[in-house]
Amino acid sequence: MWVGTRRQFHGLVIGGIAMMITKNFSVKEMECHCGCGESEMDPEFMRMLQELRDEAGFAFRLSSSRRCVTHNAKVSSHSKKAGIHTFGKAVDILTGHIDTSRVLKLIKQAQDIGFTGLGLNLRGKREGRFIHIDNRGTDFSVPAVWTY
Ligand SMILES: [Zn+2]
Repeated sequence: MWVGTRRQFHGLVIGGIAMMITKNFSVKEMECHCGCGESEMDPEFMRMLQELRDEAGFAFRLSSSRRCVTHNAKVSSHSKKAGIHTFGKAVDILTGHIDTSRVLKLIKQAQDIGFTGLGLNLRGKREGRFIHIDNRGTDFSVPAVWTY
């Protein structure tokens, strides 16, 4: 089934069709950046992410999605070895190209959908700005908000 826009062809393409997890997010977009091939995501997280995408109405550029434990240890901003990215329950959405009023709305929409972790990196060079969202459960931590 053809479901997408040109953007989705950043995804793994087999037989001309990108392997999609949801309508707008491909397997390739979720892969760990170290090259290990890990890409499995939490189904409920992906349902929520697609809901946020539908409400936002614009394409997301993700700077990080699934991470293996090894890669997470290298790039994570905190010391917890098995960070929430290693459970496939988090993405970082680049926001430097989006109006700040729209970023504020996205943060509210993420809360309304039920994301329980929110990290904000909204200073410095625009190309490096992002918001982290996750759906951590109480087995991981209490709901959390932080800046980088
Ligand atoms: Zn990896």
